[in-house]
Amino acid sequence: RTQTSAGTQPNLRTNPRGRVEIREVHKSYGDVEVLHGIDLTVEPGEVVALLGPSGSGKSTLLRTINHLETINSGEITIDGEFIGYAERGDALLELPEREILNRRLRIGMVFQQFNLFPHLTALENVTIPVTSRKLSSKSDAWARGLELLERVGLGHLADRYPRQLSGGQQQRVAIARALMLDPDVMLFDEPTSALDPELVGEVLQVIRKLAEQGRTLVVVTHEISFAREVADRVVFMSEGRIVEQGTPDVVLGNPREERTREFLRRYL
Ligand code: ADP
Ligand code: MG
Repeated sequence: RTQTSAGTQPNLRTNPRGRVEIREVHKSYGDVEVLHGIDLTVEPGEVVALLGPSGSGKSTLLRTINHLETINSGEITIDGEFIGYAERGDALLELPEREILNRRLRIGMVFQQFNLFPHLTALENVTIPVTSRKLSSKSDAWARGLELLERVGLGHLADRYPRQLSGGQQQRVAIARALMLDPDVMLFDEPTSALDPELVGEVLQVIRKLAEQGRTLVVVTHEISFAREVADRVVFMSEGRIVEQGTPDVVLGNPREERTREFLRRYL
């Protein structure tokens, strides 16, 4: 028995991480429930495209995974650890704020509006997750930050301020920042919706590379062809529920639900 457990000792480098489990999640704003019992499991390394009309609860769901929103009931775990509030029997567990922050560090999030600090350079923006918490020396942080900027094709613009960068470049800085702490899971909320059409491709290309590297990604997007090429699974939401999910071929090519078909007619 000892032998068996030693033999199956998880190897941190090869052991896939970033399994997200969402169970029966309900979320209300005031009296209005906007998530009506969401169940979704994302496997380590899986790329999930989350689609659905405006107001269907996509952003809210992403934000609950990162505990930017609390939930009213249900539970969300990442690699078996609770993130945020968790229901156990009739007790609602609330994690200490400090623990929430620690767990949030393992999740990278990229927003539609980039959310860069205007008074910081690209490199300072990328390193802020580390420098603001003094998690390593400044020179280590800058070395890693530069490497990440190079990975998104912006090594030569490290000293620029956000206003000196195009939207696509700003979003790539935001992606590099989300990678700074080497997160197990990355969440993208319409990462290309604020971009001029000619800048969409460069950002999708960076996300595509992340997908190929085996990171767990959940991407809210209206880019149907991107979802078709990159996602392992497409999840379609409507009015606070997951109404259909499956491989891109099935959900995008031969959807079962009229709501999905109507959405696709609009965005294809
Ligand atoms: P999506 O991202 O799919 O467009 P959202 O998650 O943003 O949908 O919104 C889902 C529903 O929750 C919508 O009806 C929206 O108006 C409502 N909502 C979102 N954020 C808030 C908030 N902070 N306060 C109150 N209602 C909100
Ligand atoms: Mg949204």
